[in-house]
Amino acid sequence: MRHRLLAPVLVLSASLCLPGLAACGAGTEPGAETTTHASGASPSTDPDSAGTSDAEEGAASASESADVDLSGKTIAIDPGHNGGNADNPAKISEPVPDGRGGTKACNTTGTSTNSDYPEADFTWAVAKKLRHSLEEAGAKVVLSRKDNTGVGPCVDERGTFADDADLMVSIHANGSESSSVKGFHIIVADPGEDAKTEKASVSLAKSLGSAMGETFTPNQAYGKDAISRRPDLAGLNNASVPAAIVECGEMGNREEAKLMESTSGQSKYAAALFDGIVDWF
Ligand SMILES: [Zn+2]
Repeated sequence: MRHRLLAPVLVLSASLCLPGLAACGAGTEPGAETTTHASGASPSTDPDSAGTSDAEEGAASASESADVDLSGKTIAIDPGHNGGNADNPAKISEPVPDGRGGTKACNTTGTSTNSDYPEADFTWAVAKKLRHSLEEAGAKVVLSRKDNTGVGPCVDERGTFADDADLMVSIHANGSESSSVKGFHIIVADPGEDAKTEKASVSLAKSLGSAMGETFTPNQAYGKDAISRRPDLAGLNNASVPAAIVECGEMGNREEAKLMESTSGQSKYAAALFDGIVDWF
């Protein structure tokens, strides 16, 4: 409808990484919010990929934000991980409440593309673009972190920071070991904070998935709607409002990595998330 920039191509694989709000993919430390299903395929290199630093903040979807009114709405965006996490292993290993009576590691480093473009950089770039568009449309936006050079926050705060918002969207990218795995998927907490919030989170996930599917490939290994439900993700468990993690794509997949590393690709991800949020209200 609004975005028809890429033809969906379905590439399904039995080899999947099911990451969490704090971690995606291989290379994360033990105890991280990551479940990795090993794959036999080796990652491909991507000589065409050029690492892109934080993209300039710009409208994710300027044409849409002009005719959308989000006045009175507060939207929480959680850009996954943080640029300083890798240099602070002790801090991000600290146990924090997992939202279900246990503990979880504070945070993780996240994954990266085969040319070492970090997930934290990608999520930060998309979050800034998404924030810009949402604010252009009149929304109040709160972010879980203020820059891409710090450490954390821990996964419990990545849920509670959204307490005063109407919804929370956590932006991540996945790190399956197989470079053939492709596509986005979305995760909601099951069980949720309560039945009403859980239902609203599923509704949010469906809206985000529908909008993402206009431009990107859904990874239907997670179900027809590319939505998975998990009990173990502390960020989602600590959220009191409708919340979803969007794993925007696979950083080990050559085609998706090029999109994630480019400013134009980041704008497309932000635009899709913007549409999904707008359509949910
Ligand atoms: Zn992640």
